[in-house]
Amino acid sequence: MKLILLGAPGAGKGTQAEVISEKLNIPQISTGNMLREAVKNGTEYGLKAKAQMESGALVPDEVVIGILKERIAEDDCKNGFILDGFPRTVPQAEALDAMGVEIDKVVEIFVPDEKIQQRLGGRRVCEGCGASYHTEFKPSKVDGVCDKCSGKTVLRKDDAPETVLERLKVYHTTTAPLKEYYDSKGKLVTVVGQEEVADTSRLTLEALTK
Ligand code: ADP
Ligand code: ZN
Repeated sequence: MKLILLGAPGAGKGTQAEVISEKLNIPQISTGNMLREAVKNGTEYGLKAKAQMESGALVPDEVVIGILKERIAEDDCKNGFILDGFPRTVPQAEALDAMGVEIDKVVEIFVPDEKIQQRLGGRRVCEGCGASYHTEFKPSKVDGVCDKCSGKTVLRKDDAPETVLERLKVYHTTTAPLKEYYDSKGKLVTVVGQEEVADTSRLTLEALTK
């Protein structure tokens, strides 16, 4: 199954992508995590992406499309994958179509902006493996320490309140048109994000069978 998770920053795409990835045994492909990794390692892609990511802007289409294309060509993507954070612009969606990728479903996780602003302040991300936690809704077993790799969990620079506002603006103007793009192809399902991660996961898995 080839899936796309859409949603505003902080709507819980990454968390749900992890759940689906385990349940369906398909890889989760997070362009945000891949870009952060590239920034950390100082690769050519990383150097190009750093400033945009820190200000809450999007990384240029050519850069993310290049990264994505290489990733989905890998062996573990043969039986499908779940895209978390890609596409984020109409040209990215068109590039995916041009690659001949047949998407089965696009799940939009809807959370109102006010709630997102509350949520992101509590988000913590592992510096080691990129796993994501929330101080209130999904705490790691030991505060500040990743359950998976024992790395340090930190507040992302782009989760600063001003940057969150910018990211929401970018989402509404540039990414939200993808809803119409996929709805017109009959692929869009919308799930309302719940307080409890597990409740959203149940609704998301149900939506995949619709
Ligand atoms: P979130 O969904 O919480 O904003 P991500 O981890 O998906 O965070 O992405 C973090 C940042 O990485 C984005 O703000 C953007 O700068 C960059 N990025 C990730 N995916 C894309 C993409 N598909 N197109 C352009 N920029 C991207
Ligand atoms: Zn980790």
